[in-house]
Amino acid sequence: MGLQKKIKIGIDEAGRWPWFWPVVAACFCLNPEKIPSKEFISKLQDSKKLTSKQREKIFSQIVTLANEEIPSIFFGIGVVDNFVIDSINIRQANKEAMRRALLEILRKINQDDIDSVVIDGKDNYSFDELKKKPLYIIWWDAKVAEIAWASIIAKVFRDKIIDTYACLYPKMSLENHKWYGTKKHNDFLETKANISSFHRLTYAPVKKILEHKPKLLLHVCCWPDATIPIVTLKEKYDIICFWYDPNIHPKSEYDRRLKAFKKVCEIEKIPYIEGEYDIKTFFSKIKGFEKCKEKWERCQKCYDFRLEKTAFLASELNINYWTTSLTISPHKDIKKIFEIGEKYNLENIKSQFLAFDFRKDNGFVKSVEYTKKNNIYRQNYCGCMYSENFLWNGKEG
Ligand code: SF4
Repeated sequence: MGLQKKIKIGIDEAGRWPWFWPVVAACFCLNPEKIPSKEFISKLQDSKKLTSKQREKIFSQIVTLANEEIPSIFFGIGVVDNFVIDSINIRQANKEAMRRALLEILRKINQDDIDSVVIDGKDNYSFDELKKKPLYIIWWDAKVAEIAWASIIAKVFRDKIIDTYACLYPKMSLENHKWYGTKKHNDFLETKANISSFHRLTYAPVKKILEHKPKLLLHVCCWPDATIPIVTLKEKYDIICFWYDPNIHPKSEYDRRLKAFKKVCEIEKIPYIEGEYDIKTFFSKIKGFEKCKEKWERCQKCYDFRLEKTAFLASELNINYWTTSLTISPHKDIKKIFEIGEKYNLENIKSQFLAFDFRKDNGFVKSVEYTKKNNIYRQNYCGCMYSENFLWNGKEG
């Protein structure tokens, strides 16, 4: 154009903070050889006070002026999608959007005619494509009109892109929030099924929903038996341990096992609930079956009253699932334990029993190794005063 460095380019972006879809940057400059009407320029300078309708009107005027045979303005647009934002972070993606916008405008003007390039913000990017470093201005609106115009282009263009996607997600009320992180947006994303392929997955609220795990109440019959269930389940569930074992005798042994349980919960950072030591309930539940052999009626009643308590507690606390570490021990009747769990699933209980066989893949052997390695107390009898008579020839229970 042969001008004497009269061109000032303003750059701004839209969509840095939303949780969805692209960041858009725009560059804007006037053609010093064909300045638009004063009336039009004065409208643009007041951009901050514009309604969205007024912004749209000016946007279409900008497009018209930029497409005249001799344009009175020039602009460039840069769009960077959510996948790039997730892989390089929003700051770098924003720079890339600005770079793309600059590349477009630099094809329309002569770089030697540029007097200055002014950007809103304090990111302090520099661009290899520019011969000089841009100036950064905060609170641009009263100072650099070119940034205000760039801002109108970026914002309206991004809104138009978003409106195109609104038809896919009618429940989102996009017209109101344009995918910004409003409460309504957050409520809509409540489950990960509502996260679209246009969401920025690295943004904290979206990430949190993706990583959300269902809650599970794990009945712990003793700490050593709970180690492998915890290791197995914690990847997939948000575990809360429930210590409920009034069957353990004597009280000093109960306290010893409880202490070991609490210590490891603290180390593993697993929350726990401590049930009551209501040994009278245990005696009343097994009454008449005291002399039964291990695994038979006494033990089945002993499983049942502890699992019943767990099922109702999970339901009361609105915990999605519950299960028990009892299934890891080779001395327990796993089939009976599953039957009891299923029985509570058929009752009107909100929480669901999950039947895990923790003996699989050498679960019991691994639990023994775990306790040895971490120097955790391991008992040598099941728990009740009757089991003392059934010591398993030195084997651990
Ligand atoms: S042996 Fe174990 S499972 Fe059986 S009643 Fe005693 S404490 Fe309960």
